[in-house]
Amino acid sequence: MILFKTIASLRARLQQAKQETSSVGFVPTMGALHEGHASLIRESRAKSDVTVCSIFVNPRQFNDASDFEKYPRTIENDILLLEKNHTNILFLPSADEMYPVDDSPVPQYDLGYLENILEGFYRPGHFQGVCRAVHRLLSIVEPDMLFLGQKDYQQCMVVRKMMKDFGLSAQLHISPTLREASGLAMSSRNMRLSTRAKENAAAISKALVYIKEHIQHAPVTELKNTASQIIMHAGFDKVDYIEICDATTLKPVEQAMGGQKLVTLAAAFIEGVRLIDNMLIN
Ligand code: AMP
Repeated sequence: MILFKTIASLRARLQQAKQETSSVGFVPTMGALHEGHASLIRESRAKSDVTVCSIFVNPRQFNDASDFEKYPRTIENDILLLEKNHTNILFLPSADEMYPVDDSPVPQYDLGYLENILEGFYRPGHFQGVCRAVHRLLSIVEPDMLFLGQKDYQQCMVVRKMMKDFGLSAQLHISPTLREASGLAMSSRNMRLSTRAKENAAAISKALVYIKEHIQHAPVTELKNTASQIIMHAGFDKVDYIEICDATTLKPVEQAMGGQKLVTLAAAFIEGVRLIDNMLIN
């Protein structure tokens, strides 16, 4: 694996790779890598000739300064995981490299309905920050394929819209969520939890499974209430949301209709750490 910290050196290497008609797969991350990230790297390795992973803890997508400060940073382990999974290139830019101080206007992304619901509602400005970083990274790497995780369901929809609006042609691949044996969705944020909280945190996925298994037999409000109780009884501090939405539009549904593809999504705090998860239904 070759590590690049500057855009110029990375682009020089990628131009050479593209002349050799190699296809480039790109996996953007914020580091503190785990097996979920590794699954995206493996997917990219299987589908493209050169796999580029970026690690950048993007300050612009954190609406809470202390969340940004506490975000785990484990670069030595990250490099080991990337090498073990045969990543070709690691791009590790500084904030100055990503966001040089110049006169160019800060882009505003038209995310429509997606901007202010669920994650967007609870984390104002979050998706503008995500788009800014992903747009910038895509214009630097110019990959043929982009690999994202379903774990961040709304983010996938937002990035898809941004790419369409800006005519970015990379093929988007969305990989399933990797989970611990307990069902807990793997997340860099899990590293901040005590062993006990990590066990209890599996309640989010249990609540989503409960919704999935009962969707045909109970009204949506009742399902959401029970799911919320499952999470709170496991020792969570607070539930931000539990929602059942149309899987394509992310509009909440009031009643499950046979044949409609749905997704159930949740966000909740345990030991002050905010976790998110989602599951497709039917
Ligand atoms: P992050 O480092 O949290 O920004 O995540 C980088 C990429 O990894 C995003 O596309 C995430 O959706 C994806 N990802 C995070 N957790 C998982 C997981 N448990 N399984 C699969 N992909 C994941």
